[in-house]
Amino acid sequence: MNANDINSIKTLLSSPKAIVIIPHKNPDGDAIGSTLGLFHYLKQFNHKATIIAPNDYPDFLKWMPEEDSILKYESHKENCDALIDGAELIFTLDFNALSRIGNMEDSVVKSNAIKIMIDHHQQPDDYATYMYSDVSMSSTCEMVFNFIEMLGDVDKINSAIATCLYTGIMTDTGSFRFPSTTSNTHAIIGELIEKGANNSEIHNNIYDTNSYARLQLLGRALSNLKVIPEYRTAYITLTQEELNKFDFKKGDTEGFVNYGLSLKGIIFAAIFIESHQDDIIKISLRSKGAFSVNELSRSHFNGGGHTNAAGGRSELNMTETIDKFISILPKYKQDLNP
Ligand code: 5GP
Ligand code: MN
Repeated sequence: MNANDINSIKTLLSSPKAIVIIPHKNPDGDAIGSTLGLFHYLKQFNHKATIIAPNDYPDFLKWMPEEDSILKYESHKENCDALIDGAELIFTLDFNALSRIGNMEDSVVKSNAIKIMIDHHQQPDDYATYMYSDVSMSSTCEMVFNFIEMLGDVDKINSAIATCLYTGIMTDTGSFRFPSTTSNTHAIIGELIEKGANNSEIHNNIYDTNSYARLQLLGRALSNLKVIPEYRTAYITLTQEELNKFDFKKGDTEGFVNYGLSLKGIIFAAIFIESHQDDIIKISLRSKGAFSVNELSRSHFNGGGHTNAAGGRSELNMTETIDKFISILPKYKQDLNP
């Protein structure tokens, strides 16, 4: 995003606009934190801003300031379509391909609104009028901070904005430990705490609200963990039957994939989660170092993401999906062998 773009956006925002802000489907902490952070910023200028999420998200995200104003497209399609149709500006946050918003895609494509992308995933599509895309960024929340700073409005960051942006930076960096966490990330985090983000409370709200059933599900996931030492790979499976047995709720499996990566010597971890509702196996992939799970997911599992964290899907059944997974490992022998 260059100085010209920033000046044009400044001009656009200098008078009240009808604005829609959109996170990706199955939004995570960064998606909800960044959209709400931007929402609280825009509200101060009397814009009519609405966040429309493609679908619902886990309860552990449902405490952020004005989170309850977020509309869900899946349950309010008509109302949302009218808002998208009437929008002068659409911000798309934490994704870079319109296929990531599911069946909202058609309405957004049809809309004549000026589109602004803020995102840190690899290989962005070319749908936005203004694109702030930077794969080196820890999180979209860090980019929203930078965006507000580029607009010369750091002094407008209040405790609501700070709380939302802190949350997304924390969740997308694995609590400030992934390699994408820079000294600049920490400087921003420091500033957000100064502006009213209560770091300890935010951590509790996100991570210390487990149900007993979720911990039992984690126990099952860990006992299903398999290791393939010759490829420094570990993977977990969870069938729909197992999810049902432990009263699965959206978000319950968040972070499970990282346990594989915590094993000594393992640099590639996967989790395969069966979904009868979507009739797919949902796949999360994580890696350490240069091995790109984004590339593997794009090539074999219809997904994408970042070098060290990506998602994808399989339309095969669980056994066939695992067979496919194991059969492609030799292709990556070079990267995965010690
Ligand atoms: P997760 O495994 O937590 O669902 O996703 C890991 C990362 O990959 C996130 O940044 C997420 O946005 C991205 N991602 C997840 N699923 C998909 C997908 O199906 N397609 C693409 N392009 N990215 C995905
Ligand atoms: Mn993100």
